Amino acid sequence: MGFLSGLGATISQKGSEVADKTKKMVETTTLNGNVNDLNKAINKIYQEIGRKYFEANRENAPEAYAEEFGQIEEKMKEIDSLNEQIAALKGGEKKESPVCPSCGQAVEEGAAFCAHCGAKIG
Ligand SMILES: [Zn+2]
Repeated sequence: MGFLSGLGATISQKGSEVADKTKKMVETTTLNGNVNDLNKAINKIYQEIGRKYFEANRENAPEAYAEEFGQIEEKMKEIDSLNEQIAALKGGEKKESPVCPSCGQAVEEGAAFCAHCGAKIG
């Protein structure tokens, strides 16, 4: 192998190393994206479990979650009060909107499911 052809081989080897590194970086990014998507999906399910657990145990908050249950109840009251303020701002037309039998939030007239908790209406 002459000097020039040896150099050429070294350069093309470097080139394929760079290409290989780039390919690995792209693949890593894709895989990380997939991991993130799956983690997001899991978090959504965790959230759903939490909501269902809360709804199922709301009347009798378990000792271990008393603080969190209290925080949710508190925030729900705040929401109610804010919604009342919003309704007052909208003024006059105080048409009583139907209320979700599960979470007590106001729901759209004629809605089949609660937009807040997903419970079936009526
Ligand atoms: Zn609801």
